[in-house]
Amino acid sequence: MPLTQSVEKILNYIGGELVAPQEGGWLDNFEPATGAVYSQVPDSSAADVERAVAAAQAAFPGWSQLSFEARASYLFRIADLIDRDMSQLVEAESMDNGKPLKLAAEVDIPRSSKNFRFYAGAVLNARTEAYTSPQVLNVTLRQPLGVVTCISPWNLPLYLLTWKVAPALLMGNCVIAKPSEVTPLTAYLLAQLCREAGLPAGVFNIVHGSGGNTGNAIIGHPGIKAVSFTGGTRTGRHIASVVAPQFKKLSLELGGKNPNLIFADCDYDKMLATTLRSSFANQGQICLCGSRIYVERGIYGKFRDDFVERSRRLKVGDPRLAETDLGAVVSRAHQEKILGAIERAKAEGGKVLCGGGPAEVGGRCSGGYFVQPTVIEGLSEQCATNQEEIFGPVVTLQPFDREEEAVALANATQYGLSSSLWTRDLSRAMRVAERIEAGVVWVNGWMVRDLRTPFGGVKQSGVGREGGDDALSFWIEKKNVCISY
Ligand code: NDP
Repeated sequence: MPLTQSVEKILNYIGGELVAPQEGGWLDNFEPATGAVYSQVPDSSAADVERAVAAAQAAFPGWSQLSFEARASYLFRIADLIDRDMSQLVEAESMDNGKPLKLAAEVDIPRSSKNFRFYAGAVLNARTEAYTSPQVLNVTLRQPLGVVTCISPWNLPLYLLTWKVAPALLMGNCVIAKPSEVTPLTAYLLAQLCREAGLPAGVFNIVHGSGGNTGNAIIGHPGIKAVSFTGGTRTGRHIASVVAPQFKKLSLELGGKNPNLIFADCDYDKMLATTLRSSFANQGQICLCGSRIYVERGIYGKFRDDFVERSRRLKVGDPRLAETDLGAVVSRAHQEKILGAIERAKAEGGKVLCGGGPAEVGGRCSGGYFVQPTVIEGLSEQCATNQEEIFGPVVTLQPFDREEEAVALANATQYGLSSSLWTRDLSRAMRVAERIEAGVVWVNGWMVRDLRTPFGGVKQSGVGREGGDDALSFWIEKKNVCISY
């Protein structure tokens, strides 16, 4: 039987048990493609958080004192179980989020097991510093922080949750995770796999619920030593305001308004196909999607016509169907936000070249939340459309004449997460890459990821880096022991 059809109530995972919220708060969980409620998720209270922190604190001494190899073996086991249940997790992620089944199968779930395997393997690189001088030896201990929290968004639910949880556990911490209340299903299934893997009780806990309720109870809890958050900039600002005065470690991966800079000398066909993907993959709901497309004037007209024609051909439809390119956006509220942003773009003088409204998908999806891929031109870089994150299938086009101008346009927002740069001129690629204010610059590509590289944003796109050594360092405190002999 498919796993997802049997889930009516999603439960918290606390102290190794699957449990209902203590004070009985439940929220409806919707399937975005149909608009129907298919399960309920706990809206956990401070009492549930308290219980999870107590379970994690009890587990910490045992877990932190295990060898790296022993901790890694649990992570490898969880990765294997994710792979074993791949098709059920793919189905669950697609149903819960609205994304095409094929995207969950190609990206979300394989990357989730890879996250566990990657960090389990990182044990091979776990090293520490030692400095010697006459009769003195300095050794740096890398000690886990204790009980920490991982708070993740709805756009890549299991992918982003596991990206945080795996390194935190490997380094010896015990984790309280809060997935987005909008997409809790794969986290619930992961909890079941962790039980099957024999992960000791309390090492990893998942407390479901809304940000304002459960999230606030977690971040403010004095027992939580570090907060790793991925989500919107506004929420990140709020979390920083709570966490900073408590001097907890904090990592923030926030929103983006990413530019694509397309020079006339690029590999046109590769650029066109990739730009289509970077604009509309996951319905534009990836923090790395390029939403501002700047094109050198010599090819602007050709690009605009080709891009619009290709965008029109994209199929918005039932996420279960193989031919679907764009599924549903995550919620009714988010659909309304995106459609509101399109109306604002029109009011700002933007010309809608294609899309511009909800997409009607019939049959079982007639009540779902669909938006047409939308391309807009004729707006200045200062207008709200080009300044604020829309986080949907909406992009703007603008021509540029000179390299200087392209860089200035790229940098003309408060955000600085990622960017894509298309040119065959290596000198220009390096020159521009150095000057773009972003944590990630792709040259002639998009979403090409090596998990060893630092990942994160500048300006209002975040503080800190995830990935590779950066994540391992975030989840520990270094202590120098100085031995005189
Ligand atoms: P939100 O900021 O709304 O929520 C993110 C998470 O934080 C959710 O689990 C949310 O819970 C929780 N949360 C909300 N309020 C609080 C609070 N007061 N205390 C603690 N936790 C809280 O983001 P979205 O889920 O809407 O995700 C989309 C955003 O994430 C976009 O801005 C996108 O750019 C960004 N993002 C950034 C990435 C990056 O790597 N930089 C990657 C992916 C997405 P709840 O859902 O219950 O409100």
